[in-house]
Amino acid sequence: MKKVAFYTLGCKLNFSESSTIGRQFSDAGFQVVEFTQAADVYVINTCSVTDHADKKCRKVVKEALKYSPQAYIAIVGCYAQLKPQEIAEIEGVDVVLGAAEKFQLVDYIKDLSKNPKAVIYQQDIEKVNRNFIAAYSIGDRTRTFLKVQDGCDYPCTYCTIPLARGASRSDTIVNVVEKAAQIAASGVKEIVLTGVNLGDFGIVDGVREYKFLDLIKALDEVNGIDRFRISSIEPNLLSNDVIEFVAQSKKFVPHFHIPLQSGSNKILGLMKRRYRRELYVDRVVKIKELMPDCCIGVDVIVGFPGETEADFLDTYQFLNNLDISYLHVFTYSERAQTEAAEMKDSVKGSDRFNRNKMLQILSDKKRRAFYDTQLGKTALVLFEDDQKNGFIHGFTQNYVKVKALYDPLLVNELKPVILHHIDEEGIVEVEEVAEILAH
Ligand code: SF4
Repeated sequence: MKKVAFYTLGCKLNFSESSTIGRQFSDAGFQVVEFTQAADVYVINTCSVTDHADKKCRKVVKEALKYSPQAYIAIVGCYAQLKPQEIAEIEGVDVVLGAAEKFQLVDYIKDLSKNPKAVIYQQDIEKVNRNFIAAYSIGDRTRTFLKVQDGCDYPCTYCTIPLARGASRSDTIVNVVEKAAQIAASGVKEIVLTGVNLGDFGIVDGVREYKFLDLIKALDEVNGIDRFRISSIEPNLLSNDVIEFVAQSKKFVPHFHIPLQSGSNKILGLMKRRYRRELYVDRVVKIKELMPDCCIGVDVIVGFPGETEADFLDTYQFLNNLDISYLHVFTYSERAQTEAAEMKDSVKGSDRFNRNKMLQILSDKKRRAFYDTQLGKTALVLFEDDQKNGFIHGFTQNYVKVKALYDPLLVNELKPVILHHIDEEGIVEVEEVAEILAH
């Protein structure tokens, strides 16, 4: 039996797509093995947001050839769409597939003999614009990333995703519900809805057919899934209707991840974001009013061109005063083919670094403060399939990370626990689950 191994860089969408391509290989008679094992084919799914994507790709190719020197190397993903020539130059690469071709990888590699020079199959991104390919990850059996939307029509000046993934397009609600039922049948308890611009869900064959709210209402009725999590949603698309629906839903958990990117309206303007900070505050206030225990995560970019020390401090104060639970901090770095890369007033590397560090510290403080508000409460935890130093981990509905003494019977089970105290790693220890059940 031929073997295939995957290496995935980037976001949840890439993970769901690697997983789906993996299932295509299984159907074609391949065995999917770990990346560190000898394989006949290595598939590297690249990301254009990752810093130094080319260097990283080169390193992964080298690593793969270390495990299996004669292996066939295929490169797919956002970077492969953006810079196919650059990737084809990497020694050892056999085939590079663009966005329209990646789901036909199995057909492209019938013959596994190594090519003296990489072959590129990549078309203009416009060619994939209407074509939505569904995908979902099945890694451990606890949680699945289900792709329901792809591409983006927004013009953010720092972002290459519209060039790499094309226009906004979605699955139909009927298909998503069917996929969710299939996932439920495989025993998975939590689905994380994933997309490039998830809140823009609903464009099918170039026509807007539905709103995101229609999707979550339909999914709420799917039997067998205990939890749905919304991965990331633009603040301007997180409508009151969506917030109100989540607040009364039994299955959609009280957790939102809302990109802010900057707390300075001047910088939001330069980024061509579709909102200003006042709208963001309004969203947070609305969420907390209806769901006081809701977890709110925030993406922020530091060091965008033109961000002065005063602009950064403005962002810092804004976030400090906001009732949010954690930050994902990104350091701005120039991407070819974007408007921002041409902007003046580039920020010094050392300033970008320091600003990132300051926000990381703020994030730790925010997370700690949020966890503190949860101590003593009873919460439902979905335990995952892991064991570290005798403990098993899981997440509450509102995304508090907890640990309990390992018990194999807890894996993939939803259990009520009392959140006891925060350990030195910042994880909440719970009272022994069995004890609580006996209460
Ligand atoms: S919303 Fe902006 S940052 Fe997000 S994918 Fe679209 S263009 Fe990129």
